[in-house]
Amino acid sequence: MNGIFYIETYGCQMNKYDSELMAGLLASKGYGQAFDMEKADIVLINACTVRDHAEQRVFGRLGELKRFKDNNPNLIVGLCGCMAQRLGTEIFHRAPHVDLIVGPDMYRRLPELIQRLNGRPTCDVTPNTRETYTNITPERGTRLKAWVAIMRGCDNDCSYCIVPSVRGPARSRPLSDISHEVNRLVREGCRDVTLLGQNVNAYRHDGIGFGGVLRRLNMVDGNFRMRFTTSHPKDMSREIIDAIAEGGHICEHIHLPLQSGSTRILKAMRRHYTAEEYVNVVRAIREAIPGVSISTDVIVGFPGETERDYEATVSMVESIKFDSAFTFRYSPRPNTDATRLDDNVPEAEKGARLEHLISVQRTITDQKNKELVGQEVEVLVEGESRKGGGQLMGRTRTDKTVVFEGDLKLVGTCIPIRIDRAKGWTLWGKRIETTTSFS
Ligand code: SAH
Ligand code: SF4
Repeated sequence: MNGIFYIETYGCQMNKYDSELMAGLLASKGYGQAFDMEKADIVLINACTVRDHAEQRVFGRLGELKRFKDNNPNLIVGLCGCMAQRLGTEIFHRAPHVDLIVGPDMYRRLPELIQRLNGRPTCDVTPNTRETYTNITPERGTRLKAWVAIMRGCDNDCSYCIVPSVRGPARSRPLSDISHEVNRLVREGCRDVTLLGQNVNAYRHDGIGFGGVLRRLNMVDGNFRMRFTTSHPKDMSREIIDAIAEGGHICEHIHLPLQSGSTRILKAMRRHYTAEEYVNVVRAIREAIPGVSISTDVIVGFPGETERDYEATVSMVESIKFDSAFTFRYSPRPNTDATRLDDNVPEAEKGARLEHLISVQRTITDQKNKELVGQEVEVLVEGESRKGGGQLMGRTRTDKTVVFEGDLKLVGTCIPIRIDRAKGWTLWGKRIETTTSFS
C-alpha cells in the first residue's frame, strides 16, 4: 500500500463530491482510506472559499494540524478545493507546515503529486476548463445515496461571488456518461441520486439541456429517487419545469436561490432576474408540480441594502413561504465586483437583519411542517436517527427529515409514514403497515 489518506471536507455538496473523487483516485493508485485522522499519514483538507468565515475556520483547523504534525513529522498535509485555488502558494506563507496545494481542476494529479513530494512543498492550481472527471469512480461513503456531478464551473457573474474565478467556466458532461453512471449506481443499490452542478439547470451538452437530462434519467429502470442542485432562477425554463412535473424518479424539491427580494439589489448582484420574475418562476413551479417544496439561499447586508430593500426580502420570504432557507451575511470576496461598491450597512445592522430573517424563516418552516401532521408521506429510510434510541430516520421526496420507530432492516426501502408531530426542521411519524411496499 502507498499510504493512508484522510480527507476532511468543508463547504458545498460539490466539494463533498470532489472529496469522493479524490478518494476514488487515490484508492485506484493503491492508497488506503482512513476515517480517523490519527491513522493517516496523508491529511487532505478540501476547503471552501465562498465566504471569509469558511476560510478562517480552515486556517484555524490548519493551526491544529500543525500541532498534530509536530508529533508526526512524516505526516503530509494537503489543502485542496476552492480555497486552495484562490490562495495558491500564499498558503505556504500563512501555514508553512502545509506540503501540498491542489486546485479543483488538478485532482487527477493528486497521486503523482503526493508521490513526488519528497519534502518539497508543491502547488498545482492550474485551471483546466475542460476537466469533468468523467471516467473516475468516486469512493462513496454510502451505497444508498450518491452525488453525480453533471456539470462543473459557472458562467454567471454574480457580483459578490468568487465561485466562477476558482471553479472556472461551466462545462457539462455528456449525457451518455451520466446515464451510464446513474444506471450503474442504481444497479448497485443506490436509492437516492443527486445531480450536482454549480448551476445545474444551465447544463448543456451536444444541444441537450437540463430538461433533456431529467427526461432521459427518468427512464432509468429501478427504484430510486433523483434530486438536483443548485438551480438558477433565470435558467428555470418551462421545459425543465415540465420535466420535473413528470415525477417518477424526479423528486418534487427545488433549491432556488433568491438572494434578495429587492430588484434594485438583485441588479447590483447581477442575478439577471427581478423580484417579480422570481415570483413568477415560483408560481409556475407550484402550478405545475403539486406538493413541491422549495428551498432557497438569501444574502443579507449586501452593499447598499437599505432598510426598504431588506424589508422587500422579508416580505418576499413571508409571501413565498419557502420550506427552508440558508441565510448568509454578505461576505466581501477579494477581486469580486461587489467589493467596489460602497458597503454602507453597519456590521451590527447586518447581524440584526440576519438574525431576524432566520427567525422569520424558522417560523415559516415550522408552520409548513405542522401542515403535514396527519398526512401520509413516502419516506426513504436512511438509517438510525442521530439521537439513537431505536429510532430510524429517513427523508420525504420533498427532502424533509422524518424520525420514526422501526427495524434497521427497513434501511434502503421506501415506506409510508403518517406524520404525527413536527418541530423545527424535523417531522416525527408512525409507520403505516401495508402489504405492499414502495420499493
Ligand atoms: N451556484 C450556487 C451556489 C453558490 S454558493 C448558486 O448560484 O446558487 C452558495 C450560496 O452562498 C449562494 O447561493 C449565496 O447565497 C451564498 N454566497 C455566495 N457568495 C457569497 C458572499 N460573497 N457572501 C455571502 N454569501 C454568499
Ligand atoms: Fe456564484 Fe452566481 Fe455562479 Fe452561483 S450562479 S456560483 S452565486 S456566480
